[in-house]
Amino acid sequence: GAGNGFQTLVLVKPDAVQRRLVGDVIGRFERRGFKLVAMKLLQADRGLLDQHYQHLQQKPFYPALLAYMTSGPLVAMVWEGYNVVRSTRAMVGDTDSAKAAAGTIRGDLSMHVSRNVVHASDSVETALKEIGFWFQRDELVAWECGDSQYTYGP
Ligand code: UDP
Repeated sequence: GAGNGFQTLVLVKPDAVQRRLVGDVIGRFERRGFKLVAMKLLQADRGLLDQHYQHLQQKPFYPALLAYMTSGPLVAMVWEGYNVVRSTRAMVGDTDSAKAAAGTIRGDLSMHVSRNVVHASDSVETALKEIGFWFQRDELVAWECGDSQYTYGP
């Protein structure tokens, strides 16, 4: 069906777990029409985050980012559907919460770049890499969504 094979990684970050926003975030992707294909709650360790944020390791804020991302459990998910990488980034909003548009996850639920509630992969290539960092192959579930003719049309 439409969008098969297109997947992205979403993390509900530790601030959002502490603030009990997990359901709100999941609900947005569900209501949009995306299909959940993997999900787990875990405490991330430094090794995993060093891989995930490899491109940021030299930034001055990286130690604080590591402390934030290891401060408590987070929820890692893989979502699938048409244009999911781009659409998910649009739903997440600007990295800087203060600039994020109302209606986006960050624009609705967060105040500051250092506590910005979610991560979503920024390209199809990045998504493939990131899904591999966070999930084993057999943790992804292939299933048919029964409503796809209503979600996607003919
Ligand atoms: N971040 C931060 N301070 C900054 C920039 C980024 O704490 O000045 C954190 C923030 O949590 C952000 C993450 O680093 O989500 C990754 O940054 P990136 O530029 O990749 O933004 P994203 O893809 O998450 O929007």
